Amino acid sequence: MKTLAKESIGEKLTSLAKRRGFVFPSSEIYGGAGATWDFGPVGVELKNNVKQSWWRTMVQLRDDVVGIDGAILMHPRVWEASGHVENFTDPLVECGNCRHRFRLDELPDGDALATDWRASRLDLSTVACPNCGQRRLADPRRFNLMFKTFVGPVEDSASVAWLRPETAQAIFVNFENVQQVTRRKLPFGIAQIGKAFRNEITPGNFIFRSREFEQMEMQYFATAADAPRLYDEWKRIRQTWHVENGIPPEKLRFRDHAPDERAHYAAAATDIEFEFPFGWKEFEGIHYRTDYDLRRHSEFSGKDLRYFDEASGERFIPHVVETSVGADRATYAILCAAYDEEPDKEGVRVVLRFKPHLAPYKVAVLPLSKNEKLVPLARDVWAAVRPAFMSTYDETQAIGRRYRRQDEIGTPLCVTVDFQSIEDRQVTIRERDSMAQIRVPIAELVDNLREKLGA
Ligand SMILES: [Zn+2]
Repeated sequence: MKTLAKESIGEKLTSLAKRRGFVFPSSEIYGGAGATWDFGPVGVELKNNVKQSWWRTMVQLRDDVVGIDGAILMHPRVWEASGHVENFTDPLVECGNCRHRFRLDELPDGDALATDWRASRLDLSTVACPNCGQRRLADPRRFNLMFKTFVGPVEDSASVAWLRPETAQAIFVNFENVQQVTRRKLPFGIAQIGKAFRNEITPGNFIFRSREFEQMEMQYFATAADAPRLYDEWKRIRQTWHVENGIPPEKLRFRDHAPDERAHYAAAATDIEFEFPFGWKEFEGIHYRTDYDLRRHSEFSGKDLRYFDEASGERFIPHVVETSVGADRATYAILCAAYDEEPDKEGVRVVLRFKPHLAPYKVAVLPLSKNEKLVPLARDVWAAVRPAFMSTYDETQAIGRRYRRQDEIGTPLCVTVDFQSIEDRQVTIRERDSMAQIRVPIAELVDNLREKLGA
């Protein structure tokens, strides 16, 4: 069924996303705001369902992970301790001719250039500018990706604050608070979902790389002896989550970081990559960060963040295994994996084959027509369905077009109310994937829907 040209899926999805209300360009009436995006009525449902699925798996169904919701603005010393002020930079290359700016890794053979740069042997003299073709690219300079702002009325160096470039630091600085109130023993984790901001030089690929985005991060605290085993265990747990959300295993792969691309404190790191329409790209990272984070925050804050192990009577700084996935990237990957089209008598049927728990609407109630005898019954049926499932109601246009519309936003089940329904108190359930239809009594409708949705 997936016989589409790869390059066209991205364009089709972007257009579908706007047409059906998944994602709009931010500030569109002003011409857009540079790679920022707004989630529309069905997009917010989808993304919330993705986040809920993560939270349920990572927090609610586990006995060893708790959640927090940290502030975006933090003490500026946090970002010195974390290394972001000094090191959170991208190599920025400027063309001496046309003044275009590029991230080093987006030049032709960029990955090799980035490797050369890290090894201090980069030579750009033979590389042509992708924009003007001249060989006048300057050596890279480091560009810090954090958004800077000021707290209070005075814009001076004492009032500098940063929009957080990752959510993880709120977890590290709350380690002691959480450990004390929950009385957790190692190993245990702290999870968080929240916005983060990066001043990307060249954002793009729809919602894949934007300057404002949402992260779902979990830091798992353990002894140094346990951490390597837990790193492997979390790789498996995270892979399973993606598959359970409808991503085919063959569209997922791990890419282990080579020693020269890992952060200096990381003992091991891997990306989970998905085959996006523009190629294999990372959408989750799993990192064994050693004891770097808590050790640095101990040094910079002066607080003793060691953990006391009752069994051994020892005090030590816990090691951390981190899982970090972008909510927007995961949502995009789920959209890509769900997208399907198949020939039908009207040409092509476009279907988003979401797993039911992710679908924006589980059920759509559709009267066969806008007839005044049908509509009151259809609205009664919707009123009965609404408290049980996220659902929608649609009475405009021909029934076939309304089915197509629901297929395009991935609604698993449609309930159709027709003239016979007035006589026999039965309605038709139509399945998105098979288009099979069955007739059920209205009195048993909710139970039937629940069974079909596996809810
Ligand atoms: Zn140029």
